[in-house]
Amino acid sequence: DVSFANTSNIPIDHKKLLDGLLAPGYDEGSCLSRYRSYLYRKGSTHKPSSYLISKLRKYEDLHRKCGPHTRHYNRTIGKLIKQNHMNVTTSCNYIVWIATNGLGNRILSMASAFLYAMLTNRVLLVKFQNDMLGLFCEPFLNSSWESPKKFPSMNDHHKNFETYESLLKNDKESNTSRKSWPSILQLDLQHHSSDENGQFFHCDHSQALLGKVPALILSTDQYFVPSLFMVPSFKKVLNKMFPEKDTVFHHLGHYLFHPSNDAWGLITRFYQAYMDKADERIGVQIRVFHPELTTFQIMMKEILECTLQNKVLPELDTQKSVASSWKNRTSKSVLVTSLFPEYAESLRAMYWTTPTVTGDVIGVYQPSHEGKQKFSDNIHNMKAWAEIYLLSLCDVLVTSSESTFGYAAQSLGGLKPWILYKNLGNENPPLCQRAFSMEPCFHFPTTCDCDGKTKLDVASVFPHMRHCEDYDTGVKLV
Ligand code: GDP
Repeated sequence: DVSFANTSNIPIDHKKLLDGLLAPGYDEGSCLSRYRSYLYRKGSTHKPSSYLISKLRKYEDLHRKCGPHTRHYNRTIGKLIKQNHMNVTTSCNYIVWIATNGLGNRILSMASAFLYAMLTNRVLLVKFQNDMLGLFCEPFLNSSWESPKKFPSMNDHHKNFETYESLLKNDKESNTSRKSWPSILQLDLQHHSSDENGQFFHCDHSQALLGKVPALILSTDQYFVPSLFMVPSFKKVLNKMFPEKDTVFHHLGHYLFHPSNDAWGLITRFYQAYMDKADERIGVQIRVFHPELTTFQIMMKEILECTLQNKVLPELDTQKSVASSWKNRTSKSVLVTSLFPEYAESLRAMYWTTPTVTGDVIGVYQPSHEGKQKFSDNIHNMKAWAEIYLLSLCDVLVTSSESTFGYAAQSLGGLKPWILYKNLGNENPPLCQRAFSMEPCFHFPTTCDCDGKTKLDVASVFPHMRHCEDYDTGVKLV
């Protein structure tokens, strides 16, 4: 039903399964997007490694064995609830992901948690409140990733849970080796958490301590995948899983995040109405963190200068001189996503009232303008998810600095976007820069070595890492 389907000789099943990334055997009707996404994407030039595929199949087996309501699950949870500290090993170990911050942050942090789970033989469970229900299909065959209500949560047991911080502190202070370990630990890797938290996460010693705890309750809004690449004991496996370092989220995102049928309806109806027929699809993601400083005029000027100078959008023919021929005319569909309507309105008016020098025909479309970020709102999140996905279906992307919404879209789409710099009212600011990697930026990497004394610049110490284009102290995989 879409123009670029079936254009090569690659067997359809292989394309449907995204080069083996997805397992066959799911009921197609319950999640239409899973086996149809390939119809909307030009085949990815980045193939998953056979090792990554085998790790995913192994993970699925583990999840089936230990997932919610299985015999192993019930037995382990029984033990965890009863005993606060224990020394017995459990047959199944867990990471429970807790939502914080906006949807982009959540998507990136869930993917990081999943990779961490795969590296440590844990099962990933996600604790969704109402605002996250019904956005995604279940990713794991014949099982669920939603944490059952009964799973101990921070709200019920808050006081009883040891924290990662205290685990490190006790370990440092005690001379004798510890005899009992918490059964559940709160692992807070959020960006506002104290320095101590994230600083040693990349050290083998911390990972060995965490490895003793059967269930980790992880709250993070960060794409902490780069810190996993810094852990010496994970290095070998990660290198095998991802021979191309900048494809981590691209593959994990395609594996995990399948729009639910409701979200898929939003995506496909919009795509078919406004994007499908165009010769080129251009996504422009406009995220304004400080509207009081980054005024509409400032932002609009930056968007126009960046896109016109870099030929993302065609120049206007203000002389209105040539009536270009019908034949060579290309049509471009510009998808604008923003909380505000005026950017798309202004672009649309511009290309309606004045022709382009190239004769290109420009349509400008915006799915929603929600006004502000809303919390605890399921429909709001559904629209955000649909828009992230639609951006990822574009051929060219322009994104806003520091926005995880844009990071998720670029990486799913396998795109290196033009990143608009944040302008808080400067007179002559730099406009935009082309991303050097499609990976999301990890904003808050560690700044110290495992000895706790030496300052560390992770971008110069670890291979395949560079400081982000849009966030100096952050790093991303290249
Ligand atoms: P970030 O804050 O830009 O890193 O992205 P997040 O996704 O984590 O948080 C921003 C939230 O604001 C989104 O999840 C949406 O709820 C909302 N939002 C921001 N920009 C847009 C947009 O262009 N479209 C829609 N539908 N929602 C948006």
